[in-house]
Amino acid sequence: DDDISADEQVLPNVKNIIAVASGKGGVGKSTVAVNIAAGLAQMGARVGLFDADVYGPNVPRMVDAEEVPRATEDETMIPPEQFGVKLMSMAFLVGEDDPVIWRGPMVHKVLTQLWEDVEWGHLDYMVVDLPPGTGDAQLTLLQSVPVTGAVIVTTPQEVAIDDARKGLRMFGKHDTPVLGIAENMSTFKCPDCGGEHDIFGRGGGAKFAETNDMPFLGSIPIDPSVRTGGDEGKPIVLDEDSDTGDAFRVLTENVA
Ligand code: ADP
Repeated sequence: DDDISADEQVLPNVKNIIAVASGKGGVGKSTVAVNIAAGLAQMGARVGLFDADVYGPNVPRMVDAEEVPRATEDETMIPPEQFGVKLMSMAFLVGEDDPVIWRGPMVHKVLTQLWEDVEWGHLDYMVVDLPPGTGDAQLTLLQSVPVTGAVIVTTPQEVAIDDARKGLRMFGKHDTPVLGIAENMSTFKCPDCGGEHDIFGRGGGAKFAETNDMPFLGSIPIDPSVRTGGDEGKPIVLDEDSDTGDAFRVLTENVA
């Protein structure tokens, strides 16, 4: 049985475990997880980034991971590092292009290995990129690992907010504190006309946070350089000259 007894500590050398969650796919959850992890490392913290998005692990691409984990003699894995962030992802084990079609128990087994058999060392923060929704991976994590708090990522529009609400309930059921709400894909500042366009609406994340009595951690604009940064493996938070980088630095400080 994988259940942990009260006196057995999981990840004893990790001070804070931050789960980044979303109700819906495609809202920028992985992007937020990667930028928070890189931002925390930039602030001088010891950081691990655990890509638990078993069905669509794309963190290695987002950070341009050049190495894969190294196996040790006693069958543990040493995670590769990028920007001072230790990385672990399903993509290292199955390949990014192989579809994962496991059932719940397999997801549980593999996820468990990814924190038990990895030499994470001493970390101030482990940022966990959860898969979207409220399925097996989330349950496994919440039941097995002492999550310090969750960041819920949403876009401003109603459908995303509705799904975020379900995520909120899931954390509530497991007594996991929610650190707050991050709104992604907020206002787009048009470089041509200088105007602001609310492509997915405006203020939905802040309103959702207020209604549910939780902190609003910040909003990230729609910015093509977020996407190119993701595709090229250079998180925008590391770009000192970018306003969107500033927005991610604010978010990171509010999570820290
Ligand atoms: P999720 O993890 O929620 O499925 P991703 O982080 O993979 O979402 O983001 C989906 C796509 O949207 C990616 O190509 C990413 O680069 C892009 N993206 C995310 N946030 C932004 C943003 N604020 N501005 C522009 N593109 C973004």
